[in-house]
Amino acid sequence: MTIRRDVSLRPFNSFGLEAKSRFFVALEHPDDLLHLMQQDVWHEPRMVLGGGSNVLFAGDFDGLILHNRLQGRELLHQDAESVVLRVASGENWHCLVQDCVEQGWSGLENLALIPGSVGAAPMQNIGAYGAELQDCCQSVSVCFFRDGGHAELSREQCRFGYRDSIFKHELKDKCLITAVTLRLHRRFQPNLRYAALQQHLQAGRQPTLREVFDAVVTIRQSKLPDPAVLGNAGSFFKNPVIAADQAEQLRAQFPGIPLFVQAGQHKVPAAWLIEQCGWKGKRLGAVGAYEKQPLVLVNYGGASGAELLELAGRIRRSVYERFGIVLEPEVNIIGGKLAEV
Ligand code: NAP
Repeated sequence: MTIRRDVSLRPFNSFGLEAKSRFFVALEHPDDLLHLMQQDVWHEPRMVLGGGSNVLFAGDFDGLILHNRLQGRELLHQDAESVVLRVASGENWHCLVQDCVEQGWSGLENLALIPGSVGAAPMQNIGAYGAELQDCCQSVSVCFFRDGGHAELSREQCRFGYRDSIFKHELKDKCLITAVTLRLHRRFQPNLRYAALQQHLQAGRQPTLREVFDAVVTIRQSKLPDPAVLGNAGSFFKNPVIAADQAEQLRAQFPGIPLFVQAGQHKVPAAWLIEQCGWKGKRLGAVGAYEKQPLVLVNYGGASGAELLELAGRIRRSVYERFGIVLEPEVNIIGGKLAEV
């Protein structure tokens, strides 16, 4: 394990932003963390970086970056109905989904092509097309920063919610997620709740697991830019959840507003709000709101984190002025913050 200094983070963030970390270490084995805890550098401000697909570096990071490269999968159990698979947190999420589909194990197919690492999935209980990580997650293994102790958190202990978990609250910055244990199905039951998915599949017969996976990949590729071509971090803002009375007022004022009811609250697609404010496809210098999906902010090349923050702040203000809704970033902003609305 080597502790490097003044490392460029450009290869490690999908926005492709230039920023430096004062200290940087690649974690390739769970014991690396225990060794690191014995060193002076451990007392620096710390940050865990996985796939770098949900982070905006608005400036340099004056501390220690722990780059999670833990790899490995273990089949813990299998029977006629299900398989239980433990996956190290540094594995790539989409590769895992793809491999499971190839094995005929279902449950993750609606979550295809979500960028990032396996360890990032429980943080925000990733979800797409009516499926969420928590549907298949059996437990999450962690190593605590305070003493290097390990724990296995059950799904209930993870307190999963809508793009939410204990890792964003009580356990924020307190532990490294080292592995995720998933229970997947051998009998395929498609989850076609979302119209976008149904439209891509042949009506009148049940699709195969592979067909559902391919449909999700096709939909996402048609709307989302490839970070290898155009720097981005997926959805920049969360889809806001608002109270029923605010939804009623908005429906009266904007009859076309799309609203989805969830546990008595209403979800509004952030992309729709942003598009209504005229941002779709709009460019400010080297940054812009993507032409096919304005919730995705992009770096057209050579942009700074500050420029992206400025764009995000302007979008946020205009959505607030028009709809009275404050968009909250889904992306983690490091070394800066969004202007208040
Ligand atoms: P989309 O499919 O256009 O959906 C936009 C919004 O409408 C989302 O909030 C979605 O809820 C909601 N929605 C659409 N159809 C719905 C239905 N039948 N029932 C309930 N809610 C419905 O969104 P998109 O931006 O193109 O993204 C595609 C999918 O990937 C969405 O499910 C989105 O949430 C997901 N996604 C997840 C992450 C993440 O986990 N970090 C990041 C980017 C996109 P949901 O958010 O509950 O799906």
